[in-house]
Amino acid sequence: MSDSENPTKCDRCGKDLEGRYTQTFKLVKGKPRLKETFCDLCDQTERWNNYAKTGVICTRMYMDLIYLHGKYATEPHPHLDDKKILEVVGAMEKLKKHVRLFENEVWLADPSLGSVVDKCQTHGMKYEDKKSKITFMTYDIAGRVMITIQAEIYSITLITGSGDMTSGHMGIQGIYSPYDDAAKLLDWAITNHETIAQKIKSDTKVNMGI
Ligand SMILES: [Zn+2]
Repeated sequence: MSDSENPTKCDRCGKDLEGRYTQTFKLVKGKPRLKETFCDLCDQTERWNNYAKTGVICTRMYMDLIYLHGKYATEPHPHLDDKKILEVVGAMEKLKKHVRLFENEVWLADPSLGSVVDKCQTHGMKYEDKKSKITFMTYDIAGRVMITIQAEIYSITLITGSGDMTSGHMGIQGIYSPYDDAAKLLDWAITNHETIAQKIKSDTKVNMGI
């Protein structure tokens, strides 16, 4: 095991640590004790192995794609399956189409949820659909609005400019969901557009970590 102060090797692949690494800790008699130090590549491999098992796309995988595109565009990745990478790229591209529909048919269309959020005096707003157990939250701060649609375990977060009523500016900020479930969350918001716009209320408990 590596020394927590100055780790030199990855506990998983044994290679020298270069650049970023992750450390996990466990509590022993109330004090944190180093459990494992692992390199970025091993961390990445774990996320993608989890995707292969569960289909869950997480935000860091989405970030990985940008890195993978740069570093492994011309050579095969040492651990990851190209097919899985292409699958996630395809899923994110498809989700962007649902996001565009959401933007045009919920955020900008009459009644415009974007203007409801823009008029609200507090940062956060929330609507809970008890029947489907879906929660819809917005958080408006520093010129940006984050929009999270969350089912029991899965969620997707979108981002756009505060008061920005231009189509084509909304993007995906975060995700923890298989593709199908994330698409269903966006489609639910499109179907329930009017109800959300009418019933969403200011909520000071909604925070940046929505
Ligand atoms: Zn490693």
